[in-house]
Amino acid sequence: MADYRAPLDDMRFTLTEIADMGAVNALPGYGEATPDLVDAVLEEAGKFGSDVLAPLNHTGDQEGCVLENGVVRTPKGFPDAYQQFFQGGWNAIWAPEEWGGQGLPVALATAVSEVWHAANLSFALCPMLTQSGIELLLSHGSDEINAIYLEKLVTGQWTGTMNLTEPQAGSDLARIRCKAERTADGGYAVRGQKIFISHGEHDMAENIVHMVLARSPDGPEGIKGLSLFVVPKFLPDGDGNPGARNDLRCVSLEHKMGMHASPTAVMSYGDDGGATAFLIGEENRGIEYMFIMMNAARLAVGMEGVGIAERAYQQARDFAKERVQSRAITGGAEPVSIIHHPDVRRMLLAMRVQTEAIRAIAYRVAAAADTARRHSDADVKARAQGFVDLMTPVAKAFSTDTASEVADIGIQVHGGMGYIEETGAAQHARDIRVTRIYEGTNGIQANDLVGRKVARDDGRNARALAVEIRATLDDVKDSDLADLSAPLEQAAEALESATDWVVETFPGDPAAVAAGAAHYLRLMGVVSGGWLLTLGALRASRRKAAGDSDPFLEQKLVSARFFADQYLPQAAALKTTILQGGGTVTGVSPDAF
Ligand SMILES: Cc1cc2nc3c(=O)[nH]c(=O)nc-3n(C[C@H](O)[C@H](O)[C@H](O)COP(=O)(O)OP(=O)(O)OC[C@H]3O[C@@H](n4cnc5c(N)ncnc54)[C@H](O)[C@@H]3O)c2cc1C
Repeated sequence: MADYRAPLDDMRFTLTEIADMGAVNALPGYGEATPDLVDAVLEEAGKFGSDVLAPLNHTGDQEGCVLENGVVRTPKGFPDAYQQFFQGGWNAIWAPEEWGGQGLPVALATAVSEVWHAANLSFALCPMLTQSGIELLLSHGSDEINAIYLEKLVTGQWTGTMNLTEPQAGSDLARIRCKAERTADGGYAVRGQKIFISHGEHDMAENIVHMVLARSPDGPEGIKGLSLFVVPKFLPDGDGNPGARNDLRCVSLEHKMGMHASPTAVMSYGDDGGATAFLIGEENRGIEYMFIMMNAARLAVGMEGVGIAERAYQQARDFAKERVQSRAITGGAEPVSIIHHPDVRRMLLAMRVQTEAIRAIAYRVAAAADTARRHSDADVKARAQGFVDLMTPVAKAFSTDTASEVADIGIQVHGGMGYIEETGAAQHARDIRVTRIYEGTNGIQANDLVGRKVARDDGRNARALAVEIRATLDDVKDSDLADLSAPLEQAAEALESATDWVVETFPGDPAAVAAGAAHYLRLMGVVSGGWLLTLGALRASRRKAAGDSDPFLEQKLVSARFFADQYLPQAAALKTTILQGGGTVTGVSPDAF
């Protein structure tokens, strides 16, 4: 089983040169996030990931989780690793210090989270969901709720979950039936069933805080009648410690394709009358609050993609260096390791460079989130928020689609051994698959992109992105990398005209746009990836010209060229598909199948 090592060089480079960590460091309140601190945090995270979490990845997959007498047992080593994780202060390093966090930039926390996901995706899902709950409480929790729950969630002493899905309510949350009723003491009690609840029950922490979306007592039908509640497994006593058991239980665990070490629970609330629940914010605004949690989680799911793509790449690269098979196509008497075969090197480059592209997108979005939170200039803040809004579905869906492809190529590099579980290559492909489904399927992300994020704002944020791409293009044309400008320019033009088409077509014919929404999302991902890798190459080239002889910089030039050769040309074809392909889809009636 191959080891995992955090790609510290690339993480540092991407943060510094592509996400502009220097500018983040200059934001109010982030003065401590100096390059030295960033290095130290990444290195320590890398060690924890390699030494503690990564060794449990394969064993966790093999052992899985078990429900016995209402108690869920996670695989051997997981509870102990979790204790080390939260006691090491890793849980929510971006959260404010007043609540037990470290107040570090989101960009740095995002880079750190890559390590957790790469090292052990199942393990990392638990703190990831806790963090979404923290975001929610920070923005809408009452003083009373926050005083009891926030610090325990920030430190990771307690974990959080997200309870949306029900058997009849998946993508369509308007169908939620789980219901809140008012109690005699003026509080609330929740009753109903939730399915697919990640870490809904486990043995890694002393309490589990469920964020439950339920129908309000007298709320209207549909999405506007939903409220959001904190429903703890153990009701905190007067001292804030876990007290009486609440009326909720894990009914069963799902048997899944992957993520075996992450318990996916069917949860039942209120079998004995009603689970005590505490309202977040105001009644009937649950969906609005839930989106805060979901947006944070969508970026985090994008990072799951980056982590697994990196791990799958490292494993395939190590295998390709060792596995000896066939003589080289250029001749020679002896068989060579497969990395000498051009097709294998193509596969490895495809894995590495696509991983770098999704890392670049994710870190850049995270840095923009810092700017949107902290910048002193309202216009800069608004522009940064516009970029985050636009790119959140891309960071989620393009990243996870790409990671699935990367993990699949990883199997191919291994040949037959890739299909055999003991190498671990198959686990990456199985584990990553769900990231294209949960937190809003990638189809829902694509709808969100074309509808809410592009058409509804008349393409303003998408055009602002095009302006940024064109600024980089101008710099590239004036540099020794001018050969990179043509592919990026053609790709940018494709994105610009597809955006115009989406904005013009959506109001009159939303179905035609929706039919090509996934292609549009991919187009934006490909162009953004190509843009940011080109930007990286430009920065690397400048550092080389200034005397920096780090061989790693050469790799960044190769990455940008490979992406320009192999991926940017797809943009023109995607544009054609978006503009012309919708009619075929919408012209076929559901009855024709
Ligand atoms: C391992 C795992 C963990 C999960 N963890 C959690 C969790 O912690 N908390 C939680 O609440 N949920 C969780 N989920 C549930 C997950 O979020 C849902 O499965 C997901 O939102 C999709 O809902 P669904 O499965 O009902 O699919 P459906 O909504 O039935 O979708 C089926 C297909 O139809 C498409 N579709 C549906 N509506 C539209 C539309 N309007 N336009 C275009 N296409 C559409 C979808 O894209 C999809 O391809 C988890 C699921 C899994 C498998």
